[in-house]
Amino acid sequence: MKSWLQRERALEILSKEVGYVRKPHGHRLRIALAFPNSYWVGMSNLGLQTVYRLFNAHDDIVCERFFLPPKQELAELLATKAPLVTLESQTPVADFDVVAFSVSFEWDYVNVLTLLRLAQIPRYAAERNHHHPLILIGGAVTFVNPEPLAPFADVIAAGEGESLVPAFQRAYSAATDRQDLLRLLALERGFYVPAFYEPQYAANGTLAGFIGAPGAPVPVRKAALRTTEAVDPPATGIFTPDTEFGSRFLIEVVRGCANLCRFCWAGYNYLPVRPFPTDRILALAAAARAHSSKVGLVSIALCDHPDIERILTRLSEMGYSISPASLRLDDLTEPIVRILRESGERTITIAPETGSDRLRRVINKTVTNDEILDRADLIFSSGIENLKLYYMIGLPTETDDDLVAIRDLTLQLRERMMKYARNRGTVGRIIGSVNPLVPKPGTAYQWLPMENPRIVEQKIKRLRSLTADLDNVYFNIKSERHSYYQALLSLGDRRVAPAIEAAERNGQQWRAAVDETGVDGDFYIFRDRSNDAVLPWDIIDGGMKAAFFHDEFAKSLREEWTMPPKRQQENAKLLPVIQ
Ligand code: SF4
Repeated sequence: MKSWLQRERALEILSKEVGYVRKPHGHRLRIALAFPNSYWVGMSNLGLQTVYRLFNAHDDIVCERFFLPPKQELAELLATKAPLVTLESQTPVADFDVVAFSVSFEWDYVNVLTLLRLAQIPRYAAERNHHHPLILIGGAVTFVNPEPLAPFADVIAAGEGESLVPAFQRAYSAATDRQDLLRLLALERGFYVPAFYEPQYAANGTLAGFIGAPGAPVPVRKAALRTTEAVDPPATGIFTPDTEFGSRFLIEVVRGCANLCRFCWAGYNYLPVRPFPTDRILALAAAARAHSSKVGLVSIALCDHPDIERILTRLSEMGYSISPASLRLDDLTEPIVRILRESGERTITIAPETGSDRLRRVINKTVTNDEILDRADLIFSSGIENLKLYYMIGLPTETDDDLVAIRDLTLQLRERMMKYARNRGTVGRIIGSVNPLVPKPGTAYQWLPMENPRIVEQKIKRLRSLTADLDNVYFNIKSERHSYYQALLSLGDRRVAPAIEAAERNGQQWRAAVDETGVDGDFYIFRDRSNDAVLPWDIIDGGMKAAFFHDEFAKSLREEWTMPPKRQQENAKLLPVIQ
């Protein structure tokens, strides 16, 4: 591919953007920031947008972006060996001092390697030296379980960008050379330098521990903001029509969720609940109104913001149509639903997770079917037409009755929908999305094996037949094979890395990649880990104690709720995760 063609494509992208930063490189620290997926997906990612803003807020740093090129362009780049360039200045990525990846999904691990290949940078850290950029990998996945990516990274940034970026800048300014930078970063909270740690394995292949080099702490403590009181919320800073969410203005309103669902890594890993300042949310939204008429509220527990009604009312008055990412059932109050409806929302997404109250006690989803149906009345009576539902299967103690309960609850919700649709004369849709449980690191289910695939397939079949041919109800039930490799990336340790590299080489033929590299996927996925001395993700201390998770697991089997401490103060008392 000709370099002028890459340049032209970059300029075309920039011509449709508002808000990107262009700085002369001069003596600045040059950071090439990658989202390991397409521009289309990446530009809707608030993590990427925020890190870009945070880096560029430092006068002595220039940060530019690059993405996974579209298929044809990617093939051309590989064929011609033309070096991958950044968008803003069309500089070869390999010429930057630092290449930083913001990784949100396990599926993008292979893309991290593709981007390194396109940039002509050796993929394994051990093959790089001071002539190469420093490879920094951050993003949500890294503070859940960074180990499968560890051999590819010089540094893993574990935690929240608002804490990590200033610490990185500090270390970089003080460092005398690359090795000194790594040493200084290892002393900072949230930076994990994999080469400084030697995993130890027991005879049965399980992890026995990590030995850290002198000065390298074991474990590495996640970096997080103590409070968000004086911090600008993550928000769209660069607008483009070419993204998943169009020119929608995305903003994080509150961080964290205090519900403590036992399977939910986001719930446990973003504690405590921290609202962003109302005035800053509204000021940023007002400034963005010139570029967008839609606002997407990206928070896992939106209504835990103490000012949520005022925020929604003001956004509506600004003329925004408002889309919340997902609403917790206990958040759906009459004023909230009314404001959403008035702002033009026609679909609400909720997550009952399962159809039975019993199983909801097991997973600590602290709502009942009666409450869900009550909220459905509220939703449909307000004029909202469609409902999206998230369900899970493969939950501990699940039986066939629980699958039938998914169908039954959905039917009852459909009845509620029809009752109001008749008066209105238009019928909406109920869309159920079903995923098998992948036990996640950093949750009360982190020791659990994933359910036997034959049983999961049977359950999928059963649920498909239970939910087939329901008028105005559509179910999307995810297959087990897809979850298997996702689970491998989620639950693996650094011995899984060669399979990621092989999958990148062979066009993501995961089965062949795993066979070729001799990685025993079942070992990671279907083994009960309760007797393991150490789990791969224990190298990062996310703030929650193993004893708490053990307790929660025992309560899960006793079908007992841990009632969520709704108020932030109580939450801080119960879970003092950020010290
Ligand atoms: S309500 Fe439960 S599943 Fe939803 S974000 Fe909170 S902890 Fe996670």
